[in-house]
Amino acid sequence: MVLMRLLATSVFFLLFYISNAIAFVQEISPGVFVHIGKHLDVDEGYDGDICNIGFIVGDDAIAVIDTGGNYLVGNQLRQYIAENFKQPIKYVINTHAHLDHVYGNISFDEAEIYGHENLPKAMKLRANIYDRLNEKYLGKIASSSPLVVATKFVEIGQDVNLDLGNRMITLSAYLVAHTEADLTVYDQKTQVLWSGDLVFKERTPVIDGNIHGFIKALQSINELQISQIVPGHGIPSSKEYATQPMLDYLSTLRDDIRQYINEGQSLEYALEHAAKSEKEKWLLFDIQNKRNVNQVYPMMEWE
Ligand SMILES: [Zn+2]
Repeated sequence: MVLMRLLATSVFFLLFYISNAIAFVQEISPGVFVHIGKHLDVDEGYDGDICNIGFIVGDDAIAVIDTGGNYLVGNQLRQYIAENFKQPIKYVINTHAHLDHVYGNISFDEAEIYGHENLPKAMKLRANIYDRLNEKYLGKIASSSPLVVATKFVEIGQDVNLDLGNRMITLSAYLVAHTEADLTVYDQKTQVLWSGDLVFKERTPVIDGNIHGFIKALQSINELQISQIVPGHGIPSSKEYATQPMLDYLSTLRDDIRQYINEGQSLEYALEHAAKSEKEKWLLFDIQNKRNVNQVYPMMEWE
């Protein structure tokens, strides 16, 4: 029974990836289109197409959500929209500052770019490192993908509604969680939530903010009426399938690290052992889990 389910899920993933590769985007709910990025690290082979990007279509306007890691990915999305829809791309929404999500902004120069109130600061903080990584892995493509920063902002606790024409989408800004500038997009019409990297599917979650805030953000997402979640990485799914594995991983990591600190175990020990029980559930686990321990342990040591 378990084996059958596993097989069915694998076949579903495979078909999803294949059809995505052919069609560039999938319409996962009426008017909601997603391009699924590849599960690659920012390392050898990085091509700027590793996260989910896409758009929501209203009667009068289109909102693009995340733009990919360079102008080529952004252009591909832009071209697909131009070939298939007459509505203009009025809005671009950045879910956070990570390089794979925002360096395609340059392809949408006529749109208003929305982000979290902390987004410019978060981008500036990482700009030097990202310029170097892009140059290293993307070569010439990087020089044609300068960073374009949002000009419209969403404050924490003050949702912003954007009207696409008979279709309202709601932008919500979070306290420090995956990063210090996480933004979600909720489509009122279909109840689809674009979570950005507050949700990872299949690949190991990244903590570049605060583990407690991350868990709280997921708990507050759990309280919303949601038909599907479009994660920052991986296949869209129901709310439970998206948030529960995240909560399991993050709370296991937090509990383990707290226990090691209480026992006087070192960071090195934590790097080897924390959240090991989650290893089989996630892709790219060894490298990313270690990065997470490096982020969380020093922070929790002072609590
Ligand atoms: Zn991210």
